[in-house]
Amino acid sequence: MKTVLITGGTRGIGKATAQIFRKQGYNLVLVYQKNKEEAKKFEEELVSIDGELREVLMLQGDLSKEEDIIRIVREAYQKFGVIDCLVNNAGIAIDTFFCDKTKENFIKTLDVNLIGPFLLSREVGNRMQEEGHGVIINVASTNGIDTNYPISLDYDASKAGLISLTHNLANYYGKTIRVNAVAPGWVKTDMNATLDKEFIEEEESHILLGRFADPSEIANVIYFLASDEASYIQDSVIRVDGGVKRS
Ligand code: NAD
Repeated sequence: MKTVLITGGTRGIGKATAQIFRKQGYNLVLVYQKNKEEAKKFEEELVSIDGELREVLMLQGDLSKEEDIIRIVREAYQKFGVIDCLVNNAGIAIDTFFCDKTKENFIKTLDVNLIGPFLLSREVGNRMQEEGHGVIINVASTNGIDTNYPISLDYDASKAGLISLTHNLANYYGKTIRVNAVAPGWVKTDMNATLDKEFIEEEESHILLGRFADPSEIANVIYFLASDEASYIQDSVIRVDGGVKRS
């Protein structure tokens, strides 16, 4: 039986990802930041699906803290002994006008979106290498490739960094661990809950499919990358953005 560790696994894209891995029979380690009640409720929902029981380990932690990451990985291995797949999904965006950007906000964004995934990949990756197999999937963004907004320049830089980290991890762990990234465009999650209607309509007018993604449409690609069907996909960044209008 396989085990997946998903950060930010109780909300949005992470929640949809947990649901699909669970349906495929994985044990789950889900990292959440704050909302214990939400995590507990989701845990109950996940343990039994179609009468089939699986283990779910909910771990609270702040991914901007190295000590939390070390503890999370230790507790996950204590419980399951092996992690087959790591999904670095958690992320934050602190949108502020360019001229109001602060060093503190920039560092916070890098801590969660880039340094957290680096530390987790190091801790879990070294164990995967000892085991002789594993998959790491980083949830980047098209903002890290070619879609840039001055209000999210720190976020964009963190996601570009995460793509660079993906390439470096693939290079380093080479033959043993498959390391890939997904780069979603706009997705309907809490991260975008405060966007106003006009902005959303303007953005949708640039998307070939004409709409934002449902979180499950990103989760399906994450699961595919984890599966044996993706056994020859290494060091790739897969755009999942509904297509971008060129003219
Ligand atoms: P979300 O806000 O619903 O989820 C973000 C998750 O990250 C939450 O579970 C949150 O608790 C967790 N998190 C944030 N800071 C944390 C911290 N310090 N420690 C532990 N956990 C922390 O948004 P989402 O859209 O589901 O985002 C998931 C990922 O997808 C993020 O990396 C985001 O950058 C990326 N993404 C989202 C979109 C989009 O349009 N929603 C587009 C491209 C990429």
